[in-house]
Amino acid sequence: MCGIFGIYGHPEAANLTYLGLYTLQHRGQESCGIVAYDEFKGMSSHLGTGKVSDVFKKHFNFNTELPGKNAIGHVRYSTMGDSGAKNCQPILVDYFRGSLAVAHNGNLVNSQELRDELGRQGLIFSTTTDTEVVIHLLARDQEDSLLERIRHVAQKIKGAYCLLLMTDKQLLAVRDPNGFHPLVLGRLGSSYVVSSETCALDFIEATFLREVAPGEIVQIDETGLHSFELQPPAPSPCVFEYVYFARPDSDVFGRQVYTVRRELGRQLARECPVDADVVVPVPDSGTVAGIGFAEESGIPFHMGLTRNHYVGRTFIEPTQSIRSFGVKLKLNPVRDVIAGKRVVLVDDSIVRGTTSYKIVKMIRDAGAKEVHMRISSPPTSFPCFYGVDTPDRKELISSSHSVEEINRCIGSDTLGYLSREGMLKACRLQDGCAFCDACFSGDYPVKFPRLESRLQLNLFE
Ligand code: SF4
Repeated sequence: MCGIFGIYGHPEAANLTYLGLYTLQHRGQESCGIVAYDEFKGMSSHLGTGKVSDVFKKHFNFNTELPGKNAIGHVRYSTMGDSGAKNCQPILVDYFRGSLAVAHNGNLVNSQELRDELGRQGLIFSTTTDTEVVIHLLARDQEDSLLERIRHVAQKIKGAYCLLLMTDKQLLAVRDPNGFHPLVLGRLGSSYVVSSETCALDFIEATFLREVAPGEIVQIDETGLHSFELQPPAPSPCVFEYVYFARPDSDVFGRQVYTVRRELGRQLARECPVDADVVVPVPDSGTVAGIGFAEESGIPFHMGLTRNHYVGRTFIEPTQSIRSFGVKLKLNPVRDVIAGKRVVLVDDSIVRGTTSYKIVKMIRDAGAKEVHMRISSPPTSFPCFYGVDTPDRKELISSSHSVEEINRCIGSDTLGYLSREGMLKACRLQDGCAFCDACFSGDYPVKFPRLESRLQLNLFE
């Protein structure tokens, strides 16, 4: 997952984009960057690997380094391409039509095929991202209007994309017809703001206007904001945004994430009840669902694990060595809450099982009498191809183990998952359209040749 943020028509555009990225940091911690446009100095950019506070240090001068009234920014974790410096975004290019900056959240499912095709025509790539494929396609299209070129490119690309594109004249926000990932519009005085999540609008005190609709292009220029259809919408928003990814204080797909996550916990308590003394969430991923579980079950809720907030979230860090180290670094049990108690441990998902095993052991070592693991989503059995960094199928413990086997692997007394029906009921969309829940069901809303062959052979990379 990545986070994108842009602002048009504000004298402190880059500084506000920095604040926006700070708020979207949970969506990616590997690299970040900002490109700003000034009518006298043109485009300027500042990018780097690491968190926003690493890349934009205390004395960074936004006025001199990133001047201008328009800016776009990006926080990244890698789902397509490696996590090195060359893949930082926004990508800024100069071509015969001028300068173009692009920031992308999501994952194209046919980027390799497009890259191969462009490569055979002699094109050279300087990154390994799918975003650069989009830029090459845009640059080669014959239409004069960027908006029309985007429409043409949308005929070729498949998958999940929220794009911000900035030229010397305009800022464009584009959301794929499936609307996999959130993208919202806000207003700050006379300026327009675009963000992956509403929490970034709140932080800069911008007013939420509306979502960028699935299949919509929003064009912002000196004449104001204009909306165009990219492709007919076919919404299948990502249910995992509610389960794990988005911040609880954001409004996503028309509902506040906190409310939905708490309902996931309540539904979990109804489906998987257990006699216990205390509900302990795995912070932060299981906290809100844990509150819901405690409310519904009547079992007291306590923060029995303390998290060190100065370390990033395990799920999106790129190597196994960091991940194993991370659990010990991040969580510590509160013995007075746990010792001698029957503990319900609530988390959002079990991916490989290694982290859950360590946390269950940590709770037992702190003196728990029993540990009952409860998961506020169904077993994660399939990989995501649309921009969320789930691992290959063979690494997903649920793809090869039954619930009882996983219970034994992670060392809990009992293990209960929320059902698919229960998850969809808790997450219900206001307009009744269907979610993407492919990582739980294997029912992929956007098919592509590599997926079809794997589904036929029951093989996944
Ligand atoms: S496969 Fe899962 S994580 Fe990926 S977009 Fe669909 S629901 Fe979200």
